[in-house]
Amino acid sequence: MADPVQGPIEPGQTIGILGGGQLARMLALAAARLGLKTIVLAPEKDSRPVLGVAWRHLDADYDDKSALKELAAHSAIVTYEFENVPVAAVKYLASRVPVAPGHGPLETTQDRLLEKRFLAGLGIETARFDDVTHAEDLATAGAATGFPAILKTRRGGYDGKGQVKVAAADELAKAWNELGKVPSCLEGFVAFDGEASIVAARGVNGEFAAFDLTENTHRNHILWTSRVPARWNGAMTEKAHDIARRIGAAFDYVGVFAVEFFVVGNKLIVNEIAPRVHNSGHWTLDGAETSQFEQHVRAICGWPLGATRRHSDAEMTNLIGEEVNAWAKLAEEDNAHIHLYGKREARPGRKMAHVTRTWPLGRFPGKPA
Ligand code: AMP
Repeated sequence: MADPVQGPIEPGQTIGILGGGQLARMLALAAARLGLKTIVLAPEKDSRPVLGVAWRHLDADYDDKSALKELAAHSAIVTYEFENVPVAAVKYLASRVPVAPGHGPLETTQDRLLEKRFLAGLGIETARFDDVTHAEDLATAGAATGFPAILKTRRGGYDGKGQVKVAAADELAKAWNELGKVPSCLEGFVAFDGEASIVAARGVNGEFAAFDLTENTHRNHILWTSRVPARWNGAMTEKAHDIARRIGAAFDYVGVFAVEFFVVGNKLIVNEIAPRVHNSGHWTLDGAETSQFEQHVRAICGWPLGATRRHSDAEMTNLIGEEVNAWAKLAEEDNAHIHLYGKREARPGRKMAHVTRTWPLGRFPGKPA
């Protein structure tokens, strides 16, 4: 292991980032504002958003040892923008340079089953779940979760990919075939009142700061809107902060992470943990004293965490695929803050941009979408 960071990383030094999408882009912009440089390792096809924003780009696969070596040589610290980077790459980097967050949170959150067991070990409620490694496990898993349920691949799923809803036991085999008979996790369906998330940060000395509880809506399993304030009261925010604090401490986490919840009555049921900055925290760019991106840079560089106070009510809307073509129209709205990711092709389902509308505190105009 490389030595832990001794003292704060200073302006002029360089942060290495694995991944070149919009999250890397917004991290690079935040780092630049603080006088820090960024070097990104990602294959060219995944790097459009970050090109022209980072100081340097290494066009290579995540497991390319010579590129990882070069990344380590240039970086005072390395971080990642998505949870599907290979754990081996992070371990290799960590032998040469500090990496934050480390490989532990990555290993756990890359696997839905390990993630759920980790949460259960902390006494944090999740949907009922069971392991489906072989076809023979389906019946016992179904009995454990009840129906409806959702069969999800343990690894590699995102934005609704790698999951199939199952209405009754006799549909399990079909779902299993559809997912390619890979190790999976069966989850009981949660009849939720709504969905929410917390974006939180933990510093190198265990300091903790979290943004307001955010209320989220999804379309086709992809995040559509995030709004603050959420419709739930302050006690729910406290509960969510407490859950995030416990998760952060258990991982000995350094950096920003998100926890997604299903809300049922006054209960918070954890859906998943993202060991990175998160789409539901994009509103912080325009609605909070410190953005989640600056917060992540501060946390991993050993700087004091920034204030998480909200200065505006806000609603973020993702622009998916062709919706990005509305940018010129949106530019006419005086409370709309547009963030375009610089992607060339507006493929269906692709996150191309987001817009955050803000209002003075307490003036959010309507109900959530
Ligand atoms: P995921 O990829 O697991 O984050 O799921 C994406 C979305 O699918 C969630 O935000 C929910 O809207 C829905 N979903 C996933 N799992 C469940 C569940 N166990 N019960 C109800 N809805 C779910």
